[in-house]
Amino acid sequence: ASGDEKELRAPICCILGHVDAGKTKLLDCIRGTHVQEREAGGITQQIGATYLPAENIRDRTSLKAETAIKVPGLLVIDTPGHESFSKMRSRGLSMCDVAVVVVDITKGLEKQTVESLHLLRRHNVSFIVALNKVDRLYGWKECTNAPIVEALKKQSDDVKSEYKWRLTKVVTDFKENGFNTAPYYENNKKKKVVNIVPTSAESGEGVPDLLLLLVRWLPDIITDKLAYDDTVECTVLEVNEHKDLGTTIDVVLINGVLRQGDQVIVCTKQGPVTTIIRDLLTPHPMKELKAKGAYKHHKEVRAAQGVKIVARGLQYAMAGTSLIVVKPGDDLRQAEAAAMQEIDMAIRTTDENEKGTKTQEVSSIKTCKEGIYVQASSVGTLEAIIAHLKSSSVDIPVYAWNLGPVYKQDVMKASAMLKRKEEYAVILAFDVKVMPEASALAAESGLKIITADTVYRLVNIYTEHIKGLKE
Ligand code: GDP
Ligand code: MG
Repeated sequence: ASGDEKELRAPICCILGHVDAGKTKLLDCIRGTHVQEREAGGITQQIGATYLPAENIRDRTSLKAETAIKVPGLLVIDTPGHESFSKMRSRGLSMCDVAVVVVDITKGLEKQTVESLHLLRRHNVSFIVALNKVDRLYGWKECTNAPIVEALKKQSDDVKSEYKWRLTKVVTDFKENGFNTAPYYENNKKKKVVNIVPTSAESGEGVPDLLLLLVRWLPDIITDKLAYDDTVECTVLEVNEHKDLGTTIDVVLINGVLRQGDQVIVCTKQGPVTTIIRDLLTPHPMKELKAKGAYKHHKEVRAAQGVKIVARGLQYAMAGTSLIVVKPGDDLRQAEAAAMQEIDMAIRTTDENEKGTKTQEVSSIKTCKEGIYVQASSVGTLEAIIAHLKSSSVDIPVYAWNLGPVYKQDVMKASAMLKRKEEYAVILAFDVKVMPEASALAAESGLKIITADTVYRLVNIYTEHIKGLKE
């Protein structure tokens, strides 16, 4: 290799696809984890970011030691597939270099698959199709973690022919949506024709192939995009209330370095907030950023990486906006003006969205005088709850919202509805603690606090509650 080869950063890869296609399971299979089995209702309700170091990928692919991997690793973003989470999907995709669209081979293209394709086209992101659940083909002979061509050779003629016609059907469906696709092992025009990799997240067939495409083929295709750059590029994914750390933000660091003590600006609806990074946390490699487990503390973090930032003043950070680093010698006012511009644009695009022109998605939560009170652990889940409340099947207005544990003050605020409109006298609390004083006050005043482990159950319990009131 020549000495002047560019240093590359880890590609950022988003996983998209219809509910139950196997997005989370595929990631579990790659990481050797069991996130999917532990998810409430088996559904993903937050964006997760996982860093896969190149050595771990090498182990999974049985690549020879002398074969170079040009990137230091891979940053994978898992997204919720359910309808109400469309903002999270859009947000996840907007920072990605590549996407993996997971399609269930037994089902073909489904509603959210097609929605994903529209998003990919809009954001101009290249993608790979994981044609998942091949082990469900009737009579499939398991070949744990084998490359897919090897695994296919071992199958009976019946399995081979079922595979063939299902594959052909999927290729046709993609064509109808305007994309040329081909199985990657027969694809001679990899730049123009989208690669399909048959996989099983259950027994691992095809998973080495998928990883190799991402770390060996992709960097050659988008070398320039992956060139490491010192200029910080960083997007806020989530705002979280953490029981020990207070308010934290999860960010994706796309380029540059973040350091403890860095002065940074976050975009909030109230304007730019300047603060100092107190701590930088990452999950352990191969673990997910949203996992509530142990974190590693860092003095500095280099792109690309998913990072949890601890600092003051993060409460109103808007998911989807940039985090701006103010370097010594930078003009703070100029940096704040840049943040202000981004805030203006974020607010303007949301207003446009309301008029029906769909553009960029940012966190904007409309409230009104009569409605229910919603409380959640993160902005993303809050938006998902509110999107679901707004959807035509439910259509429930929101009076106010808050992040973090439910305190007495929340109960007092929500109690305003006891006089205005009794059916709205309720707090929907998702993934947050309800403080004992808060429950006591609610019980005393007649306010109902509803908790549940999935967004859908939460809203269902509420609608059942109203039906009860009306009868
Ligand atoms: P997601 O909604 O796309 O994240 O899908 P999940 O990862 O939650 O998977 C949905 C269901 O399909 C779960 O019950 C998984 O165990 C199952 N599943 C996922 N991938 C495979 C696969 O490759 N083979 C088989 N047999 N089952 C799978
Ligand atoms: Mg999932």
